[in-house]
Amino acid sequence: MAHLEIPFAVGARVWYSEAHVDTAYEPCPDCAGTKTVTATLGCGLSLQLPCQTCSVGFSAPSGVVKRSVFTAIPQLVTLGNPTMYGEDIYYELDGGGKVRSSELHLWWPASKEQCLEMVRTRTLQYEDQLRRQLASKRRDLAWSVTYWRSKVKDLRRNLEIAEQALVISEAKKEKTV
Ligand SMILES: [Zn+2]
Repeated sequence: MAHLEIPFAVGARVWYSEAHVDTAYEPCPDCAGTKTVTATLGCGLSLQLPCQTCSVGFSAPSGVVKRSVFTAIPQLVTLGNPTMYGEDIYYELDGGGKVRSSELHLWWPASKEQCLEMVRTRTLQYEDQLRRQLASKRRDLAWSVTYWRSKVKDLRRNLEIAEQALVISEAKKEKTV
Protein backbone atom coordinates (compact mmCIF):
# COMPACT_ATOMS: atom_id res chain seq x y z
CA MET A 1 0.00 0.00 0.00
CA ALA A 2 1.34 3.38 -0.98
CA HIS A 3 2.27 5.55 1.90
CA LEU A 4 1.61 9.25 1.60
CA GLU A 5 3.17 11.64 4.02
CA ILE A 6 1.22 14.78 4.77
CA PRO A 7 3.26 17.94 5.32
CA PHE A 8 1.33 19.05 8.43
CA ALA A 9 -0.29 17.01 11.15
CA VAL A 10 -4.05 17.06 11.34
CA GLY A 11 -5.06 19.28 14.22
CA ALA A 12 -1.92 21.45 13.94
CA ARG A 13 -2.45 25.13 14.75
CA VAL A 14 -0.77 27.33 12.20
CA TRP A 15 -0.67 31.01 11.38
CA TYR A 16 -2.19 31.48 8.04
CA SER A 17 -3.10 34.42 5.93
CA GLU A 18 -4.50 34.53 2.49
CA ALA A 19 -3.06 37.30 0.40
CA HIS A 20 -5.87 39.57 -0.60
CA VAL A 21 -4.94 41.63 -3.58
CA ASP A 22 -6.74 44.92 -3.84
CA THR A 23 -6.46 47.02 -6.93
CA ALA A 24 -6.01 50.72 -6.50
CA TYR A 25 -5.56 53.46 -9.07
CA GLU A 26 -3.20 56.38 -8.61
CA PRO A 27 -2.46 59.43 -10.71
CA CYS A 28 0.32 58.64 -13.15
CA PRO A 29 3.69 59.62 -11.62
CA ASP A 30 5.02 60.88 -14.96
CA CYS A 31 2.19 62.97 -16.41
CA ALA A 32 0.31 63.66 -13.15
CA GLY A 33 -2.92 62.60 -14.84
CA THR A 34 -2.58 64.95 -17.83
CA LYS A 35 -1.87 62.01 -20.22
CA THR A 36 0.81 63.97 -22.05
CA VAL A 37 4.43 64.63 -21.32
CA THR A 38 6.46 67.49 -22.69
CA ALA A 39 9.82 66.60 -24.15
CA THR A 40 12.17 69.48 -24.81
CA LEU A 41 14.77 68.74 -27.42
CA GLY A 42 18.29 70.14 -27.39
CA CYS A 43 17.33 72.69 -30.07
CA GLY A 44 14.75 74.16 -27.71
CA LEU A 45 11.76 72.66 -29.50
CA SER A 46 9.08 71.27 -27.17
CA LEU A 47 7.02 68.26 -28.12
CA GLN A 48 3.82 67.03 -26.50
CA LEU A 49 3.98 63.26 -26.47
CA PRO A 50 1.40 60.76 -25.23
CA CYS A 51 2.51 59.46 -21.85
CA GLN A 52 3.86 55.92 -22.10
CA THR A 53 3.80 55.28 -18.37
CA CYS A 54 0.00 55.21 -18.10
CA SER A 55 -0.82 53.62 -21.44
CA VAL A 56 -1.35 49.89 -21.56
CA GLY A 57 -0.30 48.19 -24.76
CA PHE A 58 -1.38 50.26 -27.75
CA SER A 59 -4.27 51.98 -26.02
CA ALA A 60 -4.31 55.69 -25.28
CA PRO A 61 -2.88 56.94 -21.98
CA SER A 62 -5.36 56.87 -19.11
CA GLY A 63 -3.68 59.28 -16.68
CA VAL A 64 -3.72 56.67 -13.93
CA VAL A 65 -1.57 53.71 -13.04
CA LYS A 66 -2.87 50.53 -11.50
CA ARG A 67 -1.26 49.15 -8.43
CA SER A 68 -2.05 46.15 -6.35
CA VAL A 69 -1.95 46.29 -2.63
CA PHE A 70 -1.46 43.12 -0.68
CA THR A 71 -3.38 42.97 2.53
CA ALA A 72 -3.51 40.11 4.90
CA ILE A 73 -5.08 39.33 8.22
CA PRO A 74 -3.07 36.60 9.92
CA GLN A 75 -5.23 34.11 11.69
CA LEU A 76 -4.51 31.08 13.77
CA VAL A 77 -6.22 28.14 12.14
CA THR A 78 -6.54 24.46 12.92
CA LEU A 79 -5.84 22.11 10.06
CA GLY A 80 -8.57 19.59 9.48
CA ASN A 81 -8.85 16.56 7.23
CA PRO A 82 -6.48 16.47 4.29
CA THR A 83 -7.77 15.71 0.82
CA MET A 84 -5.93 15.34 -2.43
CA TYR A 85 -6.75 17.26 -5.56
CA GLY A 86 -4.43 16.44 -8.41
CA GLU A 87 -0.90 16.76 -7.08
CA ASP A 88 -1.82 18.90 -4.09
CA ILE A 89 -2.90 18.16 -0.60
CA TYR A 90 -5.56 20.45 0.80
CA TYR A 91 -6.55 20.82 4.44
CA GLU A 92 -9.96 21.69 5.64
CA LEU A 93 -9.97 24.73 7.89
CA ASP A 94 -11.92 24.97 11.12
CA GLY A 95 -13.57 28.18 9.97
CA GLY A 96 -14.58 26.58 6.68
CA GLY A 97 -12.82 26.48 3.35
CA LYS A 98 -9.74 24.63 2.23
CA VAL A 99 -6.12 25.56 2.07
CA ARG A 100 -3.43 24.16 -0.16
CA SER A 101 -0.46 22.66 1.67
CA SER A 102 2.08 24.34 -0.63
CA GLU A 103 0.54 27.71 0.27
CA LEU A 104 0.76 26.81 3.92
CA HIS A 105 4.53 26.59 3.64
CA LEU A 106 4.46 30.10 2.33
CA TRP A 107 2.08 31.41 4.94
CA TRP A 108 3.10 29.35 7.90
CA PRO A 109 5.28 31.42 10.15
CA ALA A 110 5.69 30.81 13.87
CA SER A 111 3.99 34.00 14.91
CA LYS A 112 1.52 36.62 13.82
CA GLU A 113 4.37 39.14 13.47
CA GLN A 114 6.27 36.82 11.13
CA CYS A 115 3.11 36.32 9.14
CA LEU A 116 2.73 40.08 8.72
CA GLU A 117 6.43 40.35 7.86
CA MET A 118 5.98 37.80 5.06
CA VAL A 119 3.12 39.83 3.65
CA ARG A 120 5.25 43.00 3.81
CA THR A 121 8.05 41.23 1.93
CA ARG A 122 5.61 40.18 -0.76
CA THR A 123 4.28 43.71 -1.06
CA LEU A 124 7.82 45.08 -1.45
CA GLN A 125 8.62 42.48 -4.11
CA TYR A 126 5.48 43.45 -5.95
CA GLU A 127 6.24 47.17 -5.74
CA ASP A 128 9.72 46.48 -7.05
CA GLN A 129 8.24 44.66 -10.01
CA LEU A 130 5.93 47.61 -10.61
CA ARG A 131 8.87 50.04 -10.51
CA ARG A 132 10.71 47.97 -13.10
CA GLN A 133 7.65 48.05 -15.37
CA LEU A 134 7.48 51.84 -15.05
CA ALA A 135 11.21 52.11 -15.78
CA SER A 136 10.77 50.12 -18.99
CA LYS A 137 7.92 52.40 -20.06
CA ARG A 138 10.15 55.41 -19.42
CA ARG A 139 12.69 53.81 -21.73
CA ASP A 140 9.96 53.62 -24.38
CA LEU A 141 9.42 57.34 -23.95
CA ALA A 142 13.14 57.97 -24.29
CA TRP A 143 13.00 56.04 -27.56
CA SER A 144 10.20 58.18 -28.85
CA VAL A 145 12.16 61.34 -27.94
CA THR A 146 15.11 59.95 -29.89
CA TYR A 147 12.80 59.25 -32.81
CA TRP A 148 11.38 62.77 -32.88
CA ARG A 149 14.83 64.30 -32.42
CA SER A 150 16.06 62.47 -35.54
CA LYS A 151 12.86 63.43 -37.36
CA VAL A 152 13.51 67.13 -36.60
CA LYS A 153 17.08 66.72 -37.86
CA ASP A 154 15.83 65.12 -41.10
CA LEU A 155 13.20 67.79 -41.66
CA ARG A 156 15.75 70.51 -41.05
CA ARG A 157 18.13 68.92 -43.58
CA ASN A 158 15.27 68.65 -46.10
CA LEU A 159 14.39 72.29 -45.49
CA GLU A 160 17.99 73.33 -46.18
CA ILE A 161 18.03 71.30 -49.41
CA ALA A 162 14.68 72.79 -50.44
CA GLU A 163 15.89 76.32 -49.69
CA GLN A 164 19.08 75.77 -51.71
CA ALA A 165 17.05 74.35 -54.58
CA LEU A 166 14.81 77.40 -54.43
CA VAL A 167 17.80 79.78 -54.48
CA ILE A 168 19.26 77.96 -57.53
CA SER A 169 15.97 77.92 -59.42
CA GLU A 170 15.34 81.60 -58.66
CA ALA A 171 18.85 82.46 -59.86
CA LYS A 172 18.14 80.56 -63.07
CA LYS A 173 14.85 82.39 -63.45
CA GLU A 174 16.58 85.77 -63.08
CA LYS A 175 19.06 84.80 -65.79
CA THR A 176 16.35 83.77 -68.22
CA VAL A 177 14.29 86.96 -67.62
ZN1 LIG B 1 0.95 59.21 -17.62
